[in-house]
Amino acid sequence: MSPSEPAFEPYRIKAVEPLGFTTRAEREAVLREAGWNLFRVPADKVLIDLLTDSGTSAMSAEMWAALMRGDESYAGARSFYALERAVRSLTGLRHVLPAHQGRAAERLLFKAAGAPGKVSLSNSHFDTTRAAAAAFGVEAVDLPVPENLDPSLAAPFKGDIDLRALEAKVRELGPRAALIVMTLTNNSAGGQPASMANLRAAREVSRHYKVPLFLDASRFAENAWFVKTRESGHAGRTPADVAREMFSYCDGAWMSAKKDAFVSIGGFLALNDDAWAAKAKEEMIGTEGFPTYGGLAGRDLEALAVGLEECLDERWLSYRIASVERFAALLRRAGVPIVEPPGGHAVFVDAGRLLKHLSVDSRPALALAAEIYLEGGVRAASFSSPGREWVRLTVPRRAYSESHLAHAAAVVAAVAARGASVRGLRAFDVPAGAGRLLATLEPEVAA
Ligand SMILES: *Cc1c(COP(=O)(O)O)cnc(C)c1O
Repeated sequence: MSPSEPAFEPYRIKAVEPLGFTTRAEREAVLREAGWNLFRVPADKVLIDLLTDSGTSAMSAEMWAALMRGDESYAGARSFYALERAVRSLTGLRHVLPAHQGRAAERLLFKAAGAPGKVSLSNSHFDTTRAAAAAFGVEAVDLPVPENLDPSLAAPFKGDIDLRALEAKVRELGPRAALIVMTLTNNSAGGQPASMANLRAAREVSRHYKVPLFLDASRFAENAWFVKTRESGHAGRTPADVAREMFSYCDGAWMSAKKDAFVSIGGFLALNDDAWAAKAKEEMIGTEGFPTYGGLAGRDLEALAVGLEECLDERWLSYRIASVERFAALLRRAGVPIVEPPGGHAVFVDAGRLLKHLSVDSRPALALAAEIYLEGGVRAASFSSPGREWVRLTVPRRAYSESHLAHAAAVVAAVAARGASVRGLRAFDVPAGAGRLLATLEPEVAA
């Protein structure tokens, strides 16, 4: 950290909200009531909420001012044109379709691009992307680079797509290859960025085999910052310039604007293909509303247009990434096993490695997240997939200070120090389809 890069927030605070203080006894009661599922814990019983960075960020004074400028006309609202200008100038893409959040944009895209038997190829599909693909008969195949599979390896671009595997798959599939999707950054794989070189090479495959390339751009600004600071040849560029180059390699992009663009709700799909855009707009009328508002109020469109520019501010991005890195360093120093390197939006704790005494059936990630809540009212998200038991400590943008994060790290460290005593959880009632979000669990009885 150089003296020109201060370790403090590059903004001051105009509106504040109280935190949810509770006693340990209260948290025990809350957790029992919630079936040991943190998604069912009322937010005012949470001290520091690191469940997600989605829609939980703080808007700026400029964004709040933009809300008042919102034009609520049903069709052709001024606020739509403001968003359209912002998205076009960032992405260079022709058609701009607002959507109420990322998954709505994904459904519009797969409605246009999908057909039974088609396949989408990606560095990693986020779970909503996979669900949207499946809804239109498209199989989602993940092709992460091998580095991605080693959580302790601190490689700079673990969000890259495996280019050799991509080309082999595209050849094998022929006309069944519907899309190449680059998720920037790669949320389900630890928030890891993809490099510009990887994106450019994926573009070559896309061009050569005529398979459209789309960006899941929910965290494009953080990805641009990683390219600027980790990849040679980009250091002197602005994040906006890097981001525009990233978008120049795609045929379309969508965004859950609830991530990098700071808004509480919102997203968009942008694309060049006229036929796909027409199809998506037709679908949109049935699900999201008229194509100039797409499930959003005019004020939401207006604030999003401002957020899209703000998120590329160099001072902000420099602070953001450094702050998540400092949070990770506190955990690392306390001996907490984390996925290396930390992502742009979150630090992932390797619960499998920390709670070696628990088998996968004892749900180590869920058990660790519950224990962190009990210890200090910190709420985290847990992710389980074959070989992976991760707890994600996700950092909302501009909402918490460095001292909040230091406290959260101390809470996690305290749990880690007595990791061997953490009891597993067993599923009690898991509704089909939405298990992780709505499940009821209970602690395992000591053998
Ligand atoms: C959050 C997210 C989505 C889905 O967006 P929603 O706004 O939650 O519907 C899609 N892709 C990525 C990478 C995300 O992080």
